[in-house]
This record gives sequence, structure tokens and C-alpha cells, in this order.
Amino acid sequence: MKRNLTLFTAAMLALALFFALCTGKLYAKSVGSFAEEKRVYLTFDDGPSDRVTPLVLDILKEENVPATFFVVGSQAVSRPYLLKRIVEEGHSIAIHCYDHTYRTIYGSRDALLSDIRRCQSLIASVTGISPSLYRFPGGSFHVREELKQAVKDAGYKAVDWNASCRDEEIKNATPEQLFDAAKATSYDRNRIVLLCHDSTNHTNTAKALPQIIAYYRSRGYAFGKL
Ligand SMILES: [Zn+2]
Repeated sequence: MKRNLTLFTAAMLALALFFALCTGKLYAKSVGSFAEEKRVYLTFDDGPSDRVTPLVLDILKEENVPATFFVVGSQAVSRPYLLKRIVEEGHSIAIHCYDHTYRTIYGSRDALLSDIRRCQSLIASVTGISPSLYRFPGGSFHVREELKQAVKDAGYKAVDWNASCRDEEIKNATPEQLFDAAKATSYDRNRIVLLCHDSTNHTNTAKALPQIIAYYRSRGYAFGKL
């Protein structure tokens, strides 16, 4: 009887220990996943271009990574096939501008809004998607407050970036330099919005992309689209 009781107590203790371990593990897992939710958004401005956009799309497809394309209407109007491909392959398509001329678009509230709407309706006519996601050419950092407010009031959601491969800044940058810049400007933030360009002179951005993707992957980031 005494032996049975000891066995019973031992079994109960083992069971309690097992449950404690399971609960602890689950708790650690839920806390861990919450704390470590790291996401990177690859964004491509100023395209589409026949030379670079297809290269970028090929790599994204191979890597199974989504991205966001802020397109320029004057580039897109003769390349509807690229807008369609962006959408068909599951990426986000968003408004950058119709005409990438700061002097014209930032001249007035009406000029800016009509440029945005022109790009939006071009995207809608080609893809059936009418995006409200928008990126100010050059970023919102230098844009007058009244213009930012007007864009917001018109229902557009402006998104800047907090990291960059600096492909518009470093002249004739090598893929290695672009990768280094992406890495250096990311600072291991939990939410990274990386600025890249898929306009025609940025073949090296496409070449740097596999390395950039591998880097974020190795740091535990998931890839998202805006
Ligand atoms: Zn731009």
C-alpha cells in the first residue's frame, strides 16, 4: 500500500512537471514571437522599366518574397504588361507620381493632387486596382505641411522609408556597396521599410537583391508588402 502510494505520488509529480514544462514553453514561445516580430518591406520606386523591373520580379519570384512598387505613371503608360505582372505575382502596387518633376508637382496643392490622381487612374485602368497608398517623390521629409495635409485629406496614405540601399545616392554603386548600405541603414529595427529603385539605370540594385534578402532572412525578418 505504502509502495503504491509512493508510485502514485511520483507519477503525479512527473505529470505536474510535464505540464509545467509545456506551459512554460508555450508561454515562452508566445512572448518570444511577440517580442521578435521583425518585418521588412522591400519597396521599389521610379519604375517600371524594361531593363530592371523584370529582373527584380524574377528574383522576388525565385525567393518567394513580396514587395511594394511605387510606380511613375509616365513610365508605366507604355508598359502596362509590367504593371500587370507586378499585380499578378502578388505584389503591392502603389502611387509615386505621374510626372517625377518636383517643380511641377510640388507647385501647388491642385498640381500635386491632380498628378497623384492621374497616376492612380492609370494604375486602375490597367490593373483594376485603384491604390490609395502613396509615396511623395523625394520623401515627405521636405514637403510643405499644407501639401502633406491635402494628400491626407484626399484619402491617400503616404509612406516613407527608414532604410535605403542608397542606389540613387551612391554614383555607379556596386551590388556590394548597395548591400552594405541596406545593412548599415537598417539598424536591426523591428519594422524596416527599405528604399530601392527599379528605374532603368539600377541593374545593380537587382543584382544586390538576393544578398539583401538573404541578409534579412538570416536576421529573422519576415517579408511583407505595404
Ligand atoms: Zn522617386
